[in-house]
Order: sequence, then structure tokens, then C-alpha cells
Amino acid sequence: MSKNRDLFNKHLLHPWGNLPELGEDESISVIVKGEGAYIYDEEGNKLLDGPAGMWCMQTGYGRKEIADAIAKQVMELGYATSFTVTNPVEAELAQRIASQTPGDLNRIFFTTGGSTAVDSALRLCQLANNIKGQPQRKHILTREKAYHGSTFLGASVTGKERDKSAMDVYQDYVHFLSVPCQYHHPDFDSEADFCDFLIQELEDKIAELGPENVMCMIAEPVLGSGGVVVPPADYNRRCCETVQKHGIYYIADEVVTAFGRLGHWFASEKVFNTSPDIITFAKGITSGYVPLGGYAVSDKFMEAISGDNAKGRIYSNGYTWSGAPVPCAAALASWDIIENEKILDNVHEVGPYFQEQLRTLKDIPLVGDVRGIGMMAAVEMTLQGHTGSREDLLAKDYAIGAMVDDYCHQFGLLVRPFINVCIMSPPLILTKAQVDDLVLAMRKALELTLNDLREQGIW
Ligand code: PMP
Repeated sequence: MSKNRDLFNKHLLHPWGNLPELGEDESISVIVKGEGAYIYDEEGNKLLDGPAGMWCMQTGYGRKEIADAIAKQVMELGYATSFTVTNPVEAELAQRIASQTPGDLNRIFFTTGGSTAVDSALRLCQLANNIKGQPQRKHILTREKAYHGSTFLGASVTGKERDKSAMDVYQDYVHFLSVPCQYHHPDFDSEADFCDFLIQELEDKIAELGPENVMCMIAEPVLGSGGVVVPPADYNRRCCETVQKHGIYYIADEVVTAFGRLGHWFASEKVFNTSPDIITFAKGITSGYVPLGGYAVSDKFMEAISGDNAKGRIYSNGYTWSGAPVPCAAALASWDIIENEKILDNVHEVGPYFQEQLRTLKDIPLVGDVRGIGMMAAVEMTLQGHTGSREDLLAKDYAIGAMVDDYCHQFGLLVRPFINVCIMSPPLILTKAQVDDLVLAMRKALELTLNDLREQGIW
């Protein structure tokens, strides 16, 4: 075993680590280098980075501009605390973000990543209702299969079954609505009918809880790690308007969809015609090079809880690295690259090609659904040919994504397996030729997986 694998097995616990195999994973990839849209493992294998790290390497690997900006900032001002002072880099970054957010979302709060952004946004809503004399507004609406983070609050509003059951969460005030995925609701004739059902479900839930008791709805415009679920047309806008009409805040969690993934700095307004009260962001803001997250909140929201309305109150929430200059400098450098290299235009050009080419995989019987938008997509496998108990089917289902991923490695592609889904969110610099490589590797991997299933008598 390589030295790195040995050390991994002896000392590391990874996020979502597989506990029965703790200390015994002899095949984990050791990634040592990145360049453009590719990463390299220690055996020298070159892999197209299908998930762009973790939805975050917008401008790709090996960006000297970002390295230089970080180095310059370290020498000029390595740290400053936003608890008591400000610095020119956080100020400029906040101004740039405000210039791209919808409506009057002009006030920016910086955090250390997506989970802390979600946590901070939810805590801001709690504070706002307490200040406004509505402390009973505690209920939070979210969706099945949503992912909003790993802090206690972020995990509490996360709807992924396996994650919810593992550790204690804040249960009493959190309510899960249906995942807006039509593939999983074939009983509806049309997308419009399905959308009506979802909005009615939302209205019913608000009525059941009492509108005056509901604090907010939090929603990813496109569910990301829950399997890249693109909701029916108009769903996001209708959810937002439905809750706001009852004085309930709408938080769009754009940790994945912001900073170009759907071809815009933010997707809420430009793609989904939605005007949230708060937008959370992270990941792609620095192109993944250093951690940074935050939220943008509307002036209207803040007016109600500042000035004379907020006597004696403070927003007691923040992090040592909130607005720290080094990550903000990395974010400005990544922003400049996106602008200078017209990377949003690339997403508009290559994104539709990526979606169209991936959909050609639907002719493989193992493929149940291919879905996505912009530079995020998922291929969902189905065992519809398999006859077995539900438990048996589920167990097999759990392994398929990983089986496909293993074969993808052989063909120079990394994807992100999640149960029976392979998720892709490539760097935004992807070319059409790289899309062709990606789809070909996927096709070969899916066909070999299907062969294996046939040999095992499962298909
Ligand atoms: N929200 C969404 C939509 C996410 O996808 C993620 C991370 N995958 C988070 C929040 C949490 O972000 P982080 O891992 O930076 O804490």
C-alpha cells in the first residue's frame, strides 16, 4: 500500500466516512495534482474532474492569478477581524456581490462556508422575528432530499434520509415537503399538474402550522447533492411568492447554483424569476481554493430589524474568518478570471451541449433518467429489470453509483456516486471536446456495469 493510503487508514476520518471500513480502505484515490479541468492521482492517472472538486472549482485547477492574489494579500494584510474592523477586500467583494444579487439584496454577511452560511441565515431569521415581536414564528419548511449543511441547524433542515437518521437534529420545528422531481412522481400527467400539487402541498402545510407560526422556507433552486433535481417550471417562483405572501422568509440556498454554475452570478432571479429575502452562497465564490461563504439579505429585511426597531439588539453570530482578507482576495481573483475569460458565456455555450450529449445515454437500459441544467447534471440508474425484495433492491441500488464510478476511473473520468445516481458538475471552463470525452467514458462505464449486473443475474 502507498504511504499516503497507509496514513489515511491510520489517521483520517473523512466526511461521510464509511465506518465499517474505517482503517481498511486500500483503494482510495490519492489525488496529488490538478491542472485545468483535470486531476492526477499518485499513480499518474489523469482524470477529468466531473464533480469539479465538490461543485466548486469553477475556474479550474492551477490558477496562478488566484495563487498570486492570495500571496499578495498574505504579505499585505494576512488577517483582520470583521468583529471590530473592516478591510478593503471584504468591502469590495461585498459590493461586487450586491451588484449581482436580485432586487435589494444589498447586505452581505461572510462566513466560512455553506453550512455556516445556512446556519447564520436561519439564525438571522430567528432574530428578526424576535425583534419584530413574533417569537412564535419558529417553523422551517424544507424538502426531502435537500442538502443544506453539516452544522446542527444545517443538518436539521437537510432532507436526505440517510443523513437525517444518523445523528440528532432539531426536529420539532422542521417540516419536509416533497422533492420536486417528476421522475420520482410518474403519477402526474404533466409538469404543470405536478407543480400545482407541490404548491398545494406547501399551502396546506402552512395552513396546518398556522402562517403566523412559520419562520421561513429554505430551498436550493436546483437540488444538488440530492440528485440534481431541476424543479418544474415556475415552481421556485411560486414557492417564494406563496411563503412571502404569509410574511414567511424565503431563503434560496445558492451554495451550488451561484457563481456561474447556471451561467449567471446568481440563479434565483436570472434563471428562476425568484426574489428571495436571503441568498446563501459558498463553494464557487473562491473557485474552491480557500473556504468562504456567506449570505446576501435584502435591505427591506434589515430595515425592519435595525435603527429604532432594534434598540439594544446585536446580531450575535459570526466567525473568526468572517470577511477575512485572504479568502476575500481569492474570491476577487476568481471573479476577475470569470469576467476576463467570459466563463459565464462558456456555460451558456457548453452547458446546453453537455445536457444534450448526456441525454444520449438514455438508450442504455440501465439509465432511468438523465437530468440537469447548466453545468450540473445527474445520471440516475434504475434496476427496473431486477426482481427481488425491496431490501435486496435497495442494497443493490446503493452500490450501482459506485460501480459506475469505478469504471469511469478506468476511462479517465471522476464522477460523484450517490446511491444509484452519478452526479456531475464540471469546472465551468469545460470545452465541448471534454464533454465528448466525459459522455463516452460514462457510456462505456454504464455498459460495463450493465454487463456485470447481467452476469450476476440481477438484470
Ligand atoms: N448548501 C448546499 C446547497 C450545499 O450543496 C452544501 C455543500 N454541499 C452546503 C450548503 C454546505 O456547504 P459547506 O460544505 O461549504 O459547509
